[in-house]
Amino acid sequence: MASSTVEDYLKQLYLLQQQSPEHLVAMGKLAALMGVVPGTATSMVKTLADSGLVSYEPRGGVRLTAGGEQLALHVLRRHRLVELFLVKVLDLDWSVVHEEAEELEHSISDRVLERIDQVLGHPSVDPHGDPIPTAKGLVPDAFLHSLADAPVGEALRVARVIDQEPEFLQFVERCGLTPGIILTVASREPQADAVSVRTGGTTFTLGTSAAHKILVEPSTDPA
Ligand SMILES: [Zn+2]
Repeated sequence: MASSTVEDYLKQLYLLQQQSPEHLVAMGKLAALMGVVPGTATSMVKTLADSGLVSYEPRGGVRLTAGGEQLALHVLRRHRLVELFLVKVLDLDWSVVHEEAEELEHSISDRVLERIDQVLGHPSVDPHGDPIPTAKGLVPDAFLHSLADAPVGEALRVARVIDQEPEFLQFVERCGLTPGIILTVASREPQADAVSVRTGGTTFTLGTSAAHKILVEPSTDPA
């Protein structure tokens, strides 16, 4: 098994690549996310390149190789299945499980992981709506609108919350906007940076930046 530092670098690289798939990841960005100085990130990346897990261009940046991506997806599978296990089976709050999973993702065996997957019924998303890669390293790639740009007046289902800071998740829960909830965007007022959302008979207003972080998909159930 790779060291937990190696696994963390691969996972963060994967997440950064998702944000802009057509570009190499800049070393400064990676270093900032890992909480290290650029020199530390560069020497780690050179080690990863020697192991064939990334390709590195000294002036351009870094990208996962196919082998590096498979490892990264396996770490994400562990992370997201553990999060769901902690919520569904151990009844922990969804705002605290990310931090716990950061530790556990490096230590659980494949045997325990596949048992968790089985007990949970082979789920496709974690408590925040993030897709769980399959054991073969496949991850469904769905395009989702956010509350800031989804069509007004249509029934929508909350699919994913992309800001997973505990305070934001607690706010989302207080608003009743957790994944699975059906709602409609009642109106949008760009000049006021405001989005009005109706769910369960109540209407309330969110700021545009919060609305950007809540992703939705069309729903067949009425709001
Ligand atoms: Zn998650």
